[in-house]
Amino acid sequence: MRSRYSAYVLGLIDYLVTTTLPAQQPLLDRQAMAQWSHDSRWLGLNVEREDPASASASRAQVIFSAHWADPDGSQHSHRECSDFCKLGERWYFIDPNHPLDVGRNDPCPCGSGKKFKQCCRC
Ligand SMILES: [Zn+2]
Repeated sequence: MRSRYSAYVLGLIDYLVTTTLPAQQPLLDRQAMAQWSHDSRWLGLNVEREDPASASASRAQVIFSAHWADPDGSQHSHRECSDFCKLGERWYFIDPNHPLDVGRNDPCPCGSGKKFKQCCRC
């Protein structure tokens, strides 16, 4: 979560995309992400709670709030409980803006050619 916040501050859109669940990556609006990253003045991140992810866990949750100001100076904060999913050895952010309506046996939207349940489902 901290690294994704830093990526927003620094405008590292590639990093934000590649750390999102692969099945959701085709749904992301890179231009909107870049615009928001660029136009906002980032004021801080508070991580309230991080699940200590055990070695065997494939899901983790982080509760955080992010603070930023728009170009007009108005300040905002957003509190969210984010879910992360472990596929293989890597953790991915599950983007709540892009719910996946995919059946277990459907082809995975990430384009791997595998069934969803054997690929990006956690
Ligand atoms: Zn997949």
